[in-house]
Parts: sequence; C-alpha cells; structure tokens
Amino acid sequence: MTHTAEVVIVGAGIMGVSTAYHLARLGVQRVIVLERDTVCSGSTALASGGIRHQYANRLGIELTTHSIVTYERFRDEFGVDPNFRQHGYLILIATEDELATARRSVALQRSLGVDVELLDAAATRALCPYLNTDDLLGATYTPRDGYADPYLCATAIAARARDLGVMIKQQHEVHGFLRDGDRLRGVTTAAGAFEAPAVVIATGAWSGVVGKLAGVDIPVRPHRRHKFMTAPFPAERIPAATPFVIDPHRNFSLRREGPGLLLGHGRRDEPDGFSTEIDRSLESRVVERAIHRAPVLADAALMRAWAGLYEMTPDQTGIVSAVPGTEGLHVIAGFSGHGFMHGPIAGQLMAEMLVHGRAVTMDAAALDLARFARGEAHVEPLTFV
Ligand SMILES: Cc1cc2nc3c(=O)[nH]c(=O)nc-3n(C[C@H](O)[C@H](O)[C@H](O)COP(=O)(O)OP(=O)(O)OC[C@H]3O[C@@H](n4cnc5c(N)ncnc54)[C@H](O)[C@@H]3O)c2cc1C
Repeated sequence: MTHTAEVVIVGAGIMGVSTAYHLARLGVQRVIVLERDTVCSGSTALASGGIRHQYANRLGIELTTHSIVTYERFRDEFGVDPNFRQHGYLILIATEDELATARRSVALQRSLGVDVELLDAAATRALCPYLNTDDLLGATYTPRDGYADPYLCATAIAARARDLGVMIKQQHEVHGFLRDGDRLRGVTTAAGAFEAPAVVIATGAWSGVVGKLAGVDIPVRPHRRHKFMTAPFPAERIPAATPFVIDPHRNFSLRREGPGLLLGHGRRDEPDGFSTEIDRSLESRVVERAIHRAPVLADAALMRAWAGLYEMTPDQTGIVSAVPGTEGLHVIAGFSGHGFMHGPIAGQLMAEMLVHGRAVTMDAAALDLARFARGEAHVEPLTFV
C-alpha cells in the first residue's frame, strides 16, 4: 500500500514533533511522522531537561534565546505545564583555562543580552552553601535558566501537532528510501511506502544509520550518557530551588528532581555505540564526585540509574539542513546533548526551510550539513559529555 504526504518526518522525538508542529502552523496540510516505537521513546525521554544560555559560541546562545521563550510560555501554547523550574544554571570553574573560557563566554553572552554573572569561589558558596568550593576559582551563573520535563513537553507538542492535522504513525520503522536518481520520492516501511516530495530525517542518535539507508553521510554518532537518582534527600540540606550545577572538570552534574537529586556522570572516552545498558562501574565514581562536590551527599543513597544516547556531531552542534546532492531530503539531528532545549527553535527553522526555502526566524547557516565537507565546523566547548 502506498500513502502520500507533503512532508514525511522520520522520528518522533523532540526534533520530529517540533518540525511537524511548525509545518502545520505554517499551513502544510499533509504531514506524516513515522516513528519506529512510540512518541518520545528515544533520547528525549531520557534527558535531564536542562535549558541554558551558557554556550561559548554565539549559535548556542541564540538558539536558547529563541527556545526558552517557548518553554516559558509553554502552557499558553500547548495547554500543558512543562514543569519549567527556572532555578538557574551554575557552571563551576576549576582551572585558569576554564576561567579564561568563562570570561570570554560571559562577555559574549552579555553582548547577546543574557543575564549572566561570573562569581568567585566565595560568591559561589554564598549562592549554594552546600557546595565544596575549596578547589574552585568560581562559577558562571544564569538565573533565568533551569530545567523542564522533556517527556511532558515532547508529548504535548505532538498532541498539538495532531490537533493541527499532523498524522503520527507509531510502530512504523523506516527501512529504506525511494529514489529517482538524485531525487528522493519517499520512504518504505513494513506497512508500505510513504511518498512525499520532502522527507526529514529526525532520528536523533540513529541519524547516521538512517542516513546510510538513504545513501548519504550524516556525521552523527551515538554516545552513552548516564544519570543517577538519589533517594529522597532533605530540602534543608540541598534546597528545592537549587540551580542545575555542572562541574565540567569532574564531569559531574547535580540538580533537584522532586524529593531526590539527579546526578550526572559519564566517561569522556566512552566508545561510540547504541548500548544503553548501565555501566555499574560508574556508580562508585559518581558517589565519589558527589561527596567531593557536595559533602552533605555522604548521607544520600543512590536509588536508580539509566543511560541514554547523546547524538554527537564532530563540532558538538546540531544540523538543520537540506542534504546536498539529494533533492527532497532534509535532516534535523545531532544536537550533541543540547537537543531538548533547542528543539522548539530547531523545528521552527526546519519548517521554515521546507516552506520558504530558507530559515527566517534566525540565521541557520551554522547548522548547515555542508559545513563539515567545507571544513567550517567550530567546536562548542561547553558540551558536557
Ligand atoms: C542522559 C541524557 C541527558 C540529556 N540531558 C539534556 C539536557 O539537559 N538538555 C538538553 O537540551 N538535552 C539533553 N539531552 C539530549 C537530548 O535528549 C537530545 O539532544 C534530544 O532528545 C534529541 O532529540 P531527537 O528528536 O533528535 O532524538 P530522539 O528523542 O532520540 O528521537 C529520535 C526518534 O527516532 C526514532 N527512530 C530511529 N530510527 C528510526 C527509524 N528507522 N524509523 C522511524 N523512527 C526511527 C527513535 O525511535 C526516536 O524516537 C540529554 C540526553 C541524554 C541521553
């Protein structure tokens, strides 16, 4: 059986549903999203929901400046409380090199209108008295930032897209692509072919693999990232409104998650792979880092852990782009661990490219897939893998 659409989107994570929603808002009539599993069953559901302005490159800051407004007004637009807790982001500074990067980043962020402070160690401690700051030079703090619930957000965007006429077909894995020479005609699934003049690959960490099915190179590789939850921990000891604390030097993060704490840790030398099995050997390492940075956590108990996949590109920056040489094929993927926060604006830019032939809300040239072939990729150093 063959189905037809104006646009077929492969993947129903934040990128796929955001693109679908914005296409429908721009008046595209037949948008079909094909998802091999269920809506929000990939990395989006496993994310910590962090939303921050703190990037070293202009692009990341600008993407957040646009996206954060969507999260702040989410209930008005999507009718669901996204649980956006704007308790701030605190990125710790441990070395002179990190301090130099922080000074440059803060200057850039301020020039783009971001409310950001460079704190010394005493001010960091005053903000978060439970932190051990003995080995720190300070921290950068953005009070407007915070974290929202990725599953609530992605499913609410999907629901609103459906209200606007988008068809989301779950349990529809894309196995192949239909081509006429250099032009793509659609995709194939076990339930038949879906023909469309435009196809969007929005398959997160699997985008390299799906790109291969289409015969194109999408440089996205899967990188496993772990999260750990503690049992309930008293709010008198670490307040409920504590910022999302990132300790890049020790590859550790901490924030509140309800009555417990959500801790992050991973291996920078983790080999690429699709396994999301939990590496139990990380538990002792995360406990050691937690107690070092927040000594009160010596009294906390780890309750559960999970692992998900970051979708890494060579410059740790996403791709929102037509695929050169394959007419009708587009890709929105590779946000390298920043995709939840940038999903709203990325989907809007992708939709604008499909409808207007170019992004209009902001300059998206730096998200172009062809930058890798041109050797123009600029690594975003404030990526925490
Ligand atoms: C532990 C962890 C913490 C994170 N924390 C943050 C954070 O704090 N802030 C932030 O902004 N980001 C964070 N991220 C990153 C964020 O989760 C991703 O950047 C984002 O979710 C990517 O969205 P996506 O739609 O591209 O991919 P996904 O959500 O993975 O969606 C891709 C979808 O494609 C589907 N698919 C794959 N292959 C096929 C196929 N052949 N046919 C049909 N469907 C297919 C998959 O089933 C999946 O549903 C975190 C990620 C992890 C793992």
